[in-house]
Amino acid sequence: MQLEARIKSAIRDIPDFPQPGILFKDITPIMQDAVLCNDIAVAFHESFKNQKIDAIVGIESRGFLFGMLMAQKFGLPFIPVRKKGKLPAKTISYEYQLEYGNATIEIHDDALPVGSSVIIHDDLLATGGTACAAAELVKRLDCKVAGFAFVVSLDFLNGRKSVEQHSTNIVSLINY
Ligand code: AMP
Repeated sequence: MQLEARIKSAIRDIPDFPQPGILFKDITPIMQDAVLCNDIAVAFHESFKNQKIDAIVGIESRGFLFGMLMAQKFGLPFIPVRKKGKLPAKTISYEYQLEYGNATIEIHDDALPVGSSVIIHDDLLATGGTACAAAELVKRLDCKVAGFAFVVSLDFLNGRKSVEQHSTNIVSLINY
């Protein structure tokens, strides 16, 4: 089976989670398949291996899973972006709008050398707000967004349009 079909058959749809009307794409069954996990990391590596990349930035918390695996494939640092108050050293923050209310994410202010080119990774692209917020943090550290890597893209939410303002180099392994 092709990678796309294998990922699609592993993902579990959970209706009305975490709130009514949301069809949650549960990636935890992927984690039960070590070969599939490795193949996902390899696919990301194949997509970006000819580009100049200095680090992989992963967004809490599901962006840590394949973000770290990907960083290992590249032999590059993994940089976590976390929700406010979770990172222990000095951070910079970015506040952004959610459908209801606001969220703040942070990165360590010494996480990336000035001028680094990074790939921003999360498990899923929905509206793009979270990935754009991570891109703002990267730019505030005087670094460059070389691309985005998602396992899943919910194309009907048009997140791609938002993240394109930071980089048009967008890889998603499966699309709905
Ligand atoms: P957004 O900022 O709207 O692009 O939302 C992306 C973030 O929310 C990612 O960290 C996803 O893990 C999570 N997310 C949003 N919608 C879903 C969904 N339908 N299923 C699973 N995760 C989702």
